[in-house]
Amino acid sequence: DVAVKKEVLDKARELGVKFVRLQFTDIFGTLKNVAITVEQLEKALDGELMFDGSSIHGFTRIEESDMYLRPDPNTFTVFPWRPREGAVARLICDVYNPDGTPFEGCPRYALKRVLAEAKEMGYTMNVGPECEFFLFNVDKDGKPTTETHDQAGYFDMTPVDLGENARRDMVLTLEDMGFEIEASHHEVAPGQHEIDFKYSDALDVADKIMTFKFVVRTIAQRHGLHATFMPKPIFGINGSGMHMNQSLFTLDGKNAFYDPSTPDQLSETAKYYIGGLIKHARSFAALTNSSVNSYKRLVPGYEAPCYVAWSGRNRSPLIRIPAKRGMSTRIELRNPDPACNPYLAIAAALKAGLDGIKNKITPPPPTDRNIYTMTAAEREELGIASLPASLREALMELKSNPVICSVLGEHILERFIEAKTKEWDEFRVTVHDWEVKKYLTLY
Ligand code: GLN
Ligand code: MG
Ligand code: MG
Ligand code: MG
Repeated sequence: DVAVKKEVLDKARELGVKFVRLQFTDIFGTLKNVAITVEQLEKALDGELMFDGSSIHGFTRIEESDMYLRPDPNTFTVFPWRPREGAVARLICDVYNPDGTPFEGCPRYALKRVLAEAKEMGYTMNVGPECEFFLFNVDKDGKPTTETHDQAGYFDMTPVDLGENARRDMVLTLEDMGFEIEASHHEVAPGQHEIDFKYSDALDVADKIMTFKFVVRTIAQRHGLHATFMPKPIFGINGSGMHMNQSLFTLDGKNAFYDPSTPDQLSETAKYYIGGLIKHARSFAALTNSSVNSYKRLVPGYEAPCYVAWSGRNRSPLIRIPAKRGMSTRIELRNPDPACNPYLAIAAALKAGLDGIKNKITPPPPTDRNIYTMTAAEREELGIASLPASLREALMELKSNPVICSVLGEHILERFIEAKTKEWDEFRVTVHDWEVKKYLTLY
């Protein structure tokens, strides 16, 4: 550890770093940071930097507010868009209590706990996310709109427009920061884009998703655009998802989901993992789809899942098994959206899968028909449940599921439910445009 610390200090000196931002993620998935000067870096790396946790939403009460940040030295990276002279770098941190124990309100710690459980069972988890987002114009005053000039669609090569240039710049910046970008393309809706980076270890990916969102927004802004990860910004066209490709590797580095001897080349472990995801999907939705708006995306007709089923082929169910086998064998969970807290969402999916393995939960048979076109009666006959239709329903499901609740621990669970219930209530009592349009002249 002393060596890694020295490496960070050396790198900071070499790259002329003047400011270091210590970053962490709050319960609701918002990236927070404290900037320090490079002179404080050594102290920071020793975990000696304190901050007032009571001013972070959902963290602590005033009377127990001292928190410590412990940077993970592996996350040191320089912001390429800032000047080279007096450069700015960042470190992602774990949050600790004054007595040196990990803080239960830290989402990164929640993920680490489930990863430790997986390890005890002999597995590491790999995740490959597919983040989608919209690029919108800003108005004269610099305020984001929901307008785009771009008229392109899926995989289109548009004449070089603002969005295209911005996306190129995002990819180059992310690469500069150590991301391996596998694909980047225009998505189905006008102004909608997707950038995919290579799968890796779950904790690294959760960190990267946070970095990704922040970089994409920053670069968009520099191109006079607003990037949004809001799940469904516009009614009537596709929303933005964050498909989560996941696999378990055994500790000797083999893909635990691959078994060439079965007809579909999926191992029993993969099947049980799917069984667990299916069993707990309605309950972890509050974590993978954690906003009021998330549930406007999970409706039929826009390539987003609304039914709890799996398939090797079609894309209407919650879970799809991409055709790749061997080391690339994986399960694609399609309901998460990019507004989620990636630490909690990944932790919840993993916990559900592990529960499937532990309890040998056999999934229902795959559904290879288009579920969108089935009648409610047909779905019922096949035992296909629906995902929650609202944040309220999702919260009720979460509360009633001790397995998923245990992922969060009491501290996060309590504050998450409280804040999200408030969010729902705010939405519930607001008079929306839709109502005014519908009723103002009717009654
Ligand atoms: N945008 C779609 C969603 O909401 C996904 C589209 C795709 O990647 N095929 O999940
Ligand atoms: Mg994709
Ligand atoms: Mg996509
Ligand atoms: Mg996908």
